[in-house]
Formats: sequence, C-alpha cells, structure tokens
Amino acid sequence: MRRPVLKMLALALIGTAVSAHAQEYPTRPITMVVPFAAGGPTDTVGRMIAQSMSTRLKQQVIIENTAGAGGTIAAAKVARAAPDGYTLFLHHIGQSTAPSLYRKLPYNVYDSFEPIGLVTDVPMTLIARKDFPAKDFKEALAYIKANKDKISLANAGVGSASHLCGMLFMNAIDTDLTTVPYKGTAPAMNDLLGGQVDLLCDQTTNTSAYIKSDKVKVYGLTTKTRLPQLPGVPTLNEAGLPGFEVAVWHGLYAPKGTPKPVIDKLSSALQYALADASVKQRFGDLGTEPVAQNRATPEALRSYLKSEVDKWAPIIKKAGVYAD
Ligand code: ASP
Repeated sequence: MRRPVLKMLALALIGTAVSAHAQEYPTRPITMVVPFAAGGPTDTVGRMIAQSMSTRLKQQVIIENTAGAGGTIAAAKVARAAPDGYTLFLHHIGQSTAPSLYRKLPYNVYDSFEPIGLVTDVPMTLIARKDFPAKDFKEALAYIKANKDKISLANAGVGSASHLCGMLFMNAIDTDLTTVPYKGTAPAMNDLLGGQVDLLCDQTTNTSAYIKSDKVKVYGLTTKTRLPQLPGVPTLNEAGLPGFEVAVWHGLYAPKGTPKPVIDKLSSALQYALADASVKQRFGDLGTEPVAQNRATPEALRSYLKSEVDKWAPIIKKAGVYAD
C-alpha cells in the first residue's frame, strides 16, 4: 500500500480507538484539581459541582487540593497530566491574571489546557477582623491611611483573586499595606477570625456566613450592585471607591489534547450540575448563581479567558506588580 493510504488507515484506526474510549469514558474516578486550600471558596465551588457531575457521569469526581503560588502550582501540574479526561482543573480569574503577574510560567493558559466551560461568577467583599476599629468604609479608610504601616492584608498568593482585589484596593486608595500570603483564603480567614491579620478581600462563597453571623466586619462589595443575600452591605463603588469592580469567575479545564468527545461529555455533565436545583440553591445562599447553560461550554470559556487576559494585562502592568 502507498504511504498516504497507510497514513489514512492509521488515522482512521486511531479515530475509532479514541471514540470507543470516549464512549466508555469514564470508567474510573476523575480527579478535579482545586488550586487552593480545602474549605475555601474555590474548593466550595468545586465540591458543589463535583458532586452533581459524579451523578451524571456515574463515576466519582474527587477533589484534590494542590495549593500554593496563587494557583500556578496546580496549573503547572494539570498542564503536565495525561490528557485522558481523568484530571480536571477548576480555576478562577487567576487563570487570566497569572500570565501578566508572572514573568515566567511553566505552562501557557491557552496552549496547555482544553476549556470545558464557565461555572459561576462570585462577588467579593472587603472584610476585617471583628475588632477592627472602624464601623464603616469611611472610617476604615481613614484608619487605614493613618495606620498603614501597622495594617496587614491577607491573600492567597500572587495570582489569587484576593491578591488581585487587594492590589486594586491598595491602588484605589493609593496606600501600600503589608500583604500576607496563604495557601488559600480558608487559612487566611482562620487568621482573620483569630485576629492575626486585619483585612481580607474574598469571595462571598467564603465570607457571607461570617458576615451574617457577625464574626467579621464588612466594608463593601466589589460588584456594581448590592446583593439580596447581604442586605445592608454597600458596594465599594457607593461607599467611596467609584469604578471599583471585580468579580471572580470560575472555569473548568482539562489538559490540552483531551479528546473532544470526552470534553463534550464533561461539558454536558457541567451543564447538568449547574442546572441542578440543589447546586443552584447552595450557590444562591452564598451570594452567587451558576452561569447560563450557553456559557458552560468550551467556546464560551475560551473566548472569555482571552477577553479577561486582555482586560487585566494593562491594569496589572500599570500597577507594576510581578512575581518571579
Ligand atoms: N479565594 C481565594 C483567592 O483569593 C482562593 C481560595 O482559597 O479559594 O483566590
């Protein structure tokens, strides 16, 4: 047989093997890597969708927390994983800011991952330890400015959403504070509750329960509009920082090269999870809601990621924040 014919035959055979594999998929448990500590907001979103996706896929979707370096350690790990549909990656807005924040990354956000779909957009809140001496944003601002050398702002490392929010906040008030990195905002919250750090900007998926039970002080929301789940909490916009806006979007990815039929199955399992009434309810309680079904697709995540990379690059450049 001539070479081109042989090549066509070989490709057809590979194609058949891939689609047979995709039809059976999944035949064993799937790992969803979460790039921050257990108990934090990204972990919460991951566990909510993993449970419902397990039902749909008839296989366990197990969360693995690989924390550190603002999510980039986990991203590098997933980029190296086998593209067989058994390793997934749930990341947030940090996937779009890391290329501008890090001089060098051992992966490329476009070339190392296959997008599966968008998951949810979560508002953030600026909170403080309970005994922080300011009752509202105005007082907090005055106190922060007068005591800036003593005040600490926790975050989940360069590349995390709390880091981005903190950076935008310090820029907006033109004041540098001491930042304290953690492996996620669950441990950061523990230290805030214990009074070891002063301030934190974090997703409502982590903060709303503490706000409602009065365990922390809250100075504002990072979204343009108020939230019915947190009545009485002003937006930072209205409280005194016009134009301040950041919401944490989440996306689900697989390593580059994961076969398209597998990605399609995962995308439809994600859509199933986001339409699940109990997931909707729990998201709602935490101040967020699942994205519309047509955003839980590879195409929507691919183009949203690109628009977010392009959006944050000049802002980060202007702020002059980099990590090595
Ligand atoms: N909320 C964290 C962040 O700042 C991440 C986490 O712990 O889920 O990115």
